[in-house]
Amino acid sequence: MKTFNINFSRVKAAAMLAVFILFTAVLGFSGTQESGRIFQASTIKALMEGVFDGQLTIGDLKAEGDFGIGTFEGLDGEMVLLNGVCYRVKTDGAAYEADDTELTPFAAVSFFKSDNTLQADEPMDYSQLQKYIDMYLPTKNIMYMIKIKGTFSHVKTRSVAKYEKPYPTLYRAVKNQKVFDFRDVKGTLVGFWFPKYMNGVNMAGYHLHFISDDRKAGGHLLDCTLDKGVIEIGNANIFHMELPEEGHFWDVDLTKDKDAELKKVESK
Ligand SMILES: [Zn+2]
Repeated sequence: MKTFNINFSRVKAAAMLAVFILFTAVLGFSGTQESGRIFQASTIKALMEGVFDGQLTIGDLKAEGDFGIGTFEGLDGEMVLLNGVCYRVKTDGAAYEADDTELTPFAAVSFFKSDNTLQADEPMDYSQLQKYIDMYLPTKNIMYMIKIKGTFSHVKTRSVAKYEKPYPTLYRAVKNQKVFDFRDVKGTLVGFWFPKYMNGVNMAGYHLHFISDDRKAGGHLLDCTLDKGVIEIGNANIFHMELPEEGHFWDVDLTKDKDAELKKVESK
């Protein structure tokens, strides 16, 4: 009888352990914090067509990542999500913490991880910086999280002011963008590299936003000179996209070829 009891509790313990392992495994593989996952709300093509209605709250966005970029309802500034804090760069060029109840029409976020760290010891302009990172991307067929912390002798960014309905297209909206030239500033470039086949979903290539250490400078990156810094690259091979359940997004024509316009809108 005693032996039976011992066996029974062993079986029970083994069964509980098995359930525990299974539960942890399921959580580990299906949680939003899974490694190498990019979450995106809407598409940049919809933003191009003026779909500036908010789709989800900043609070909900933060549940999907602690790192990323995007914009706010009405195209109200450039978003930088860094170390779990969401900033809005306004048309004065400075970054302000955004409230969790605010809405975003377009954003891409992830839980940052680094698979490769590069040192940048020689000054590089933006095109040299892109070519340098290009050499260390093991394939051009997956996505990457890019984080560059350093000292910049020059950073050129832009931000846009809030629009009311009816919203213009992004191409028209950025005609009123504010462009900033920051000199000798310490800060971080936050963003992603997307493969060419994802152009329209997001921007193919590098899409980076800047935020200074003192939060007094930031915006969508147009150009820069990195003097010295650390480049961290995180491989991303999971993409989760959420599209609006109703509204303007459903009615807008997303079949038009906007590649040339996108390039003009997002680069210098
Ligand atoms: Zn941007």
